[in-house]
Amino acid sequence: MYIVCSTLPFREKALPEALKKLAHLGVKRVELCVEPHHSIPEHWKESPEQILRLVNRLGIKVNSIHVPLTQETSKISHDELQRISTQQTQKTIDLAAFCGASFIVQHVRLLGNSMDLRQPPILAEIAPNLKEAARYAATKGIKLALENVPTSLARMLGANPKEVMDVVNLLPPETVGVCLDVAHCVASGYDPLDALDSIDIHRLVSIHAGDNFSNQLIDQHLPIGSGDIPWEKLFDTLESHGFQGSFVIEVAEGEEKAKALTDSLDYLRDLDRFVPNLKASPMLDSRMPFSGRARKEVKGTADHKSFSKPLVTNT
Ligand SMILES: [Zn+2]
Repeated sequence: MYIVCSTLPFREKALPEALKKLAHLGVKRVELCVEPHHSIPEHWKESPEQILRLVNRLGIKVNSIHVPLTQETSKISHDELQRISTQQTQKTIDLAAFCGASFIVQHVRLLGNSMDLRQPPILAEIAPNLKEAARYAATKGIKLALENVPTSLARMLGANPKEVMDVVNLLPPETVGVCLDVAHCVASGYDPLDALDSIDIHRLVSIHAGDNFSNQLIDQHLPIGSGDIPWEKLFDTLESHGFQGSFVIEVAEGEEKAKALTDSLDYLRDLDRFVPNLKASPMLDSRMPFSGRARKEVKGTADHKSFSKPLVTNT
C-alpha cells in the first residue's frame, strides 16, 4: 500500500509552494488535488516541464491527479457538458502520463434522469463519457478511479458508494476502478467498512482518507484519528484483502491546514502496525523522526450502528 498525501491542505497556495511544503514534511508521493490551480497547467505560472523538474528536485513523485469538476451552467446542453468534461479528463490523463502518475481520480456528474445505474444506457447520461475516457486512458497506460461523493453534492454519481461500483462494472477492469473516499461515505451516512465490503477489491485503486463524524452528515476532511472512522478495522480489512493500491491522505479542515496533515501522519505513526511500514515506506522520508510516544488511545472505534444507511442501491 502506498502512503500518498493530497495537495489539498495547501490548495490556497500555488502548486510549487504546496509541493515544497509537502516535501518539507517528508512526503514522497503526492496527489494533485481537484482545484484547477493544482491540476490544470493553464492555471500554473510554470510549465509542466518546470513543475516536473521541481518535483524531481524535491525527490517526490506525482502519484495521481484529481480531475477538476467541469462547471455546469444553465446555458450549456448536456451533450456539450459531456464533451467538455471528457476533454478535461483526457487533458488530465495526458498530464498524468507526462508526470509519471499511475491514475486519475474522477467525479462523475449525472446528466439525465435515468437512475438504473446497472444498465449500460447510464453511460450516455453521465459526464464525462467514461467509455471514451477509458479508451483514451488505456492508450496512455493510465487508470481512471471513480470517486464516491457526499450526499450534499447534488446531481453527482455515488452518494451511495455501491452506485460507483455498479458503473465501474460496466467498464473495462484493466482501466477503470474505484477511489473510495471514506470521509464522503460517512457524510452520506454509510459505514466505510460496509462500503469496502460492497466493492470488488480488485477494482479498488485508491482510498481517500480523511476523518468525519457519523452523526453530522456533512462533508468534512478532518485529520485521520479525530473522528468516528474505525481506522484499525479499515486497515485490517484492506490488509486481509491484500490491497496494493494508494492510501491518499486528503485532509484540510481546521485553522491550520498543515496541522491536519501532520496530525494525520502522527496518528498513523502511533499505530504500532504502521511504524515499520511508514519507516520503510518510500512515501515518507525515513529520516523523519518517529514520535516514540506511547501509543495514543486509538480513536475511531465507534459502533458501526451509528451509520444510518444500509448499503443497497437505492434506485
Ligand atoms: Zn476525496
